[in-house]
Parts: sequence; C-alpha cells; structure tokens
Amino acid sequence: MNLPKPDLTIKPVDPLADTDLCVLCGMCLPYCPTYRVYQNEAESPRGRIVLMQALSKTGFQADQRLFSHLDHCVGCRACETMCPSRVPFSRLINSARQLSRQQHPLPAQINQLLKTVLKPDGLNRYQGWLGNKVIQSISGAGLKLLGQDSTQRLLAQASPQRLHTLYPAGTAPRGSVALFTGCMGKLFDINSLLNSIRLLNHYGFNVHVPVKQYCCGALHENNGYPTEAETLIHNNQQVFGDIDIDYILFSANGCGAQLAEHAFSVPVMDIASFLLQQTDISPDDFQALDSTVVIHQSCSSTNKLKITGISQQLAQKIPGIQLLTLHHADVCCGAGGSHLLSQGETADKIINLKIEELKQLKPDYILSDNTGCSMHFRGSLERAGLDIAVVHPVELLARQLK
Ligand code: SF4
Ligand code: SF4
Repeated sequence: MNLPKPDLTIKPVDPLADTDLCVLCGMCLPYCPTYRVYQNEAESPRGRIVLMQALSKTGFQADQRLFSHLDHCVGCRACETMCPSRVPFSRLINSARQLSRQQHPLPAQINQLLKTVLKPDGLNRYQGWLGNKVIQSISGAGLKLLGQDSTQRLLAQASPQRLHTLYPAGTAPRGSVALFTGCMGKLFDINSLLNSIRLLNHYGFNVHVPVKQYCCGALHENNGYPTEAETLIHNNQQVFGDIDIDYILFSANGCGAQLAEHAFSVPVMDIASFLLQQTDISPDDFQALDSTVVIHQSCSSTNKLKITGISQQLAQKIPGIQLLTLHHADVCCGAGGSHLLSQGETADKIINLKIEELKQLKPDYILSDNTGCSMHFRGSLERAGLDIAVVHPVELLARQLK
C-alpha cells in the first residue's frame, strides 16, 4: 500500500492564530471604549479580530483605514477580562502591530520617544527637558503632524526633579523597598513619587530609588516592538536585583503592571496595596478632610493587575471624605500609554463621556493611580473649565498625615 508521505516541513507559527478562539459572541462590545464612542463594528474587539484575521492572510493588502481601526485600540484589555472564550486580545493586537510596522510605520515622533526611553533613566536624564531636541520634535513638529492640542496640554504638565538614591526611614527601619519611577514618572508624576517616599518612611521603610532604572517597556510592547520591551525588563531585573530590598514598589500602575507580569528577585507591588497589607495604616494617622472624591479605576489596575477597590480602601483611611461614583467607572478614560499622543482625537472623545458626568458631580478631587490617566484628566478638565484636582491617592494621604 502506498501511503502518502507525511509533510515534515516546519511551518512558521502564525502569531495571529489565536484570533480563531473568538466565537464572535459580541459580549465584549459594550465594554470597549472605542465601540462606545464610534458605534462601529470595526472599532470593537470583535471587529478588530476579524481585521487581524484578514491581516494574517498571505498577500492581503491592508489599507490605512484598516490600520486606523487597529491604532484606535487603547489597549485597555476590558475585552480580555470579559471574554468567555479567553481570547488573548492584547497579545494579538501587539502581534498585529508588529506585523504591520513595515507597511504602517509609527509617527516619527513616537519612534523617537521609544528610542529615547531605551536609555537608562530615560527622559529623566535630560534635566533641561523642554529644551531637548527629542522633546522639541514631539512638541513642535509632533503637534503639527498629530494635529492635537492635547499634546501641548500634556507637555505643560512636566516638572522635572532629581531624586536621591536612598531615603532612610530613621533609626529602626522595618524593611527596605525600592521605588520604580517609570520613564516619565520623575517628569510628570513627581508628587506621587515624593509622597510615596514620605509615607513609606513614615511607616518605617527605607526607600531606594535606583538612578539607572529603565522604562518598563509597555510603550514598546504595545507599539509592536517586543524585543525592545524584553530588553528593558531584563535591564530592570539586573538593576533592582543588585539592591538589598524586600519589595519593588510602584505608584504608576500603568508602568508597574508591565513590571509585575515578569519575575523579579523580590515581589513587585503597587504602593496602595503595600500600604494596606504591609503597614499598620489607620484613620488615626490622618487629619479629617471635608471633601468629595471620585476614584478613577484605571484599566491597568482593573484589567492588568486585577486589583479593584484598593484606592477606595486607601482613601477611606482619611476621616471625613465622601466617595462619589461615576457611572461606568470601570470603562477606560482613553489615555492608553502613547495612545494619548498618537490618537489624541479618539482619546478626547472617550474621556468626554466622563467629563460630562463630572460637570454634574463636581467632586473636589479625582484620585488616579495611573500617570497617563491623570495627565489626560488634568488636560481635559482644564479644557472643560472644571476646577477639580487630580491626584494620586498617596498624595492625598500624605497631605493629611498628622
Ligand atoms: S483593548 Fe480596549 S479598546 Fe482595545 S478592543 Fe479591547 S476593549 Fe476595545
Ligand atoms: S467576547 Fe471574546 S469571543 Fe466574544 S466576540 Fe469578544 S473577543 Fe470574541
């Protein structure tokens, strides 16, 4: 009998093969921020999966319209959280972006930003930051190219500051931790970092802030550059592995979520969970504050770190504050890493749903644990003429510390 010869050739693995896991049920659609805004199937997770399937077919000539639907995805992972078929959407869209980079390059300014933050301490090395060529190109030519006033509103929030490498707790420390600042942290989120240090010292922890730490790599991974993302994580593993610490902590949950997906020499944890779990923090430690507060639930906390309600628990340590709730508080604000720079129009449309509600609620504070979300809220509130302070939960706690 002549049996057919088996085909032993090794076929390349299709990085988009898992799009076949999608059963097209549509359960993810109401949770997708771009679908909520555009009400268009191509702007939904299900629609994007079909577009990715087309992209993976040999010889298919994608056009700019297809790419724009993929570009609009904020990377919030709400679809992944909701999906009964466990479609690994974020891995798929990152692969699709990687596959499409030659046909559809990133704007030059975003590429420059990605290159700059490959260096240790990223943008923070430039103390004359706003005079730096890279940033000038993002804020000048970048503005023209991207056509967004949101870029200007973001850059206006920069306040560079040098941090010490060690903040000792005092005579009898309970332990030592290291703080991950994120490549943008010292420029755009210095208050969160300084207030994290203040609280950690207060509760007895020495705080190391390694100067040569690297970007977390999320920007690279989400823009289709996985090799660079892995290199950055590897470099950070070495930098933090060289210090004698018990934990690596972060206040910027977008960056921290990327770090927390990898193995480090010690546990990696968000500052809010650490304060609640590892210290004896109590309402007795804080002066009362007669204010109303809205908690922004960042996608990085809800869908990546899988921590919900932590900011609420922390805020409730301050006596007197009243928590208000936004409808659909768990839906993305539209910031999404470099999405804010490259897709400003979509980002603005998404946050406007929340801004309209905030006009009615008029809270005194919005608490946000994600640097990108905080910047997006500040810029959008200013544009809407709303005087609402956007701060990290640790900032409010540190202000009220007795
Ligand atoms: S990651 Fe977010 S924006 Fe992208 S398709 Fe999923 S739900 Fe929509
Ligand atoms: S919920 Fe999952 S299976 Fe259903 S359409 Fe969305 S991605 Fe596909």
